[in-house]
Amino acid sequence: MRLTHIRQRLRASGAKACHEEILLRAWSAALALGGGKRLPGHSFPLQLRAALPAIDAELQALGRVRAEHAGEDGSARLLVELADGQTVEAVLLPRDGLCVSTQVGCAVGCVFCMTGRDGLKRQLGSAEIVAQVALARSRRVVRKVVFMGMGEPAHNLDNVLEAIELLGTLGGIAHKNLVFSTVGDRRVFEQLPHAAVRPALALSLHSTRPAVREMLLPRAPSIDPAELVELGERYARATGYPVQYQWTLLAGVNDGDDELDGIVRLLAGKYAIMNFIPYNAVDSLAFSRPGRERAMTMTRHLHQHGILSALRDSAGQDIDGACGQLRARRIDSMRPVRFAARAVAIPEPATADGKCQGGQAAGRTRQGS
Ligand code: SF4
Repeated sequence: MRLTHIRQRLRASGAKACHEEILLRAWSAALALGGGKRLPGHSFPLQLRAALPAIDAELQALGRVRAEHAGEDGSARLLVELADGQTVEAVLLPRDGLCVSTQVGCAVGCVFCMTGRDGLKRQLGSAEIVAQVALARSRRVVRKVVFMGMGEPAHNLDNVLEAIELLGTLGGIAHKNLVFSTVGDRRVFEQLPHAAVRPALALSLHSTRPAVREMLLPRAPSIDPAELVELGERYARATGYPVQYQWTLLAGVNDGDDELDGIVRLLAGKYAIMNFIPYNAVDSLAFSRPGRERAMTMTRHLHQHGILSALRDSAGQDIDGACGQLRARRIDSMRPVRFAARAVAIPEPATADGKCQGGQAAGRTRQGS
């Protein structure tokens, strides 16, 4: 379901452009369409007024919360069931943020991600993306939306850009508070600069070594990390929003001194922030997070080289914080047989000085999904 379908439905029910705006604004703000006090529905054409309860029901049916798990950090993970029974996750973040999904499943297949293990099921329509915001706003204030949930936004670009445009206009969210997250895709860098609403950009880097990055993100577009940073830098300078680089910290894989040197080489002098996110352990995957002290050392090292960096935890670690875990758990509970394990080889680091645990990692296999 796309926003264009909703607009067509409203027009077919007698809505003029001004009514359409009022109704879409109300929906994205989680206000009742069918005669709430704050909606001037009395001025609507009779035909539209009569249709509002049915339209309201159709919008509600786009997504329903099937499970809600509150975290100790103020986050809350919502399992959202779509009209066809598929499920996605949306996460209410502390400080008025929301993380939304853009696809059911994901084709990129990052080896540390529960969402990627089963591949792509289907795209989310732009209306289903906005519906997650409406559901969240029915629970609390939302002033920031990050497109970092299930799915790769670049693989569903038209729907994601439509949703961003609505949220950045009628949805009342500041453009810099809309964060488009991607593993990197040339189409993003071609289209985002010309979008009506230009969001901030988050790039999933995870390694500065092309071979390791390819292993971690097996079906991401083949772009050298150095080129990815250059493309991101151009966008950051054009929009005035720094690029937020995402780096899932995996012990023995991408937490070595060689990677730190690579980050300094790529990001020094760039309009960028590096976010280190220690990996959330999942029973069925054999990755682990480095110790807190190592993660702090890495952050400090970048600061010493003039690179803004932060050590972040995934919101709601106590509630299956990794992307797709809540949905995966629900699906697993319905499966007669668990998925088969697959072996993932970790390539040798470019500079094997022994300190970055590369020697241990080289040639070792990890049991992924
Ligand atoms: S981390 Fe993101 S891009 Fe990678 S498989 Fe998971 S959902 Fe897809």
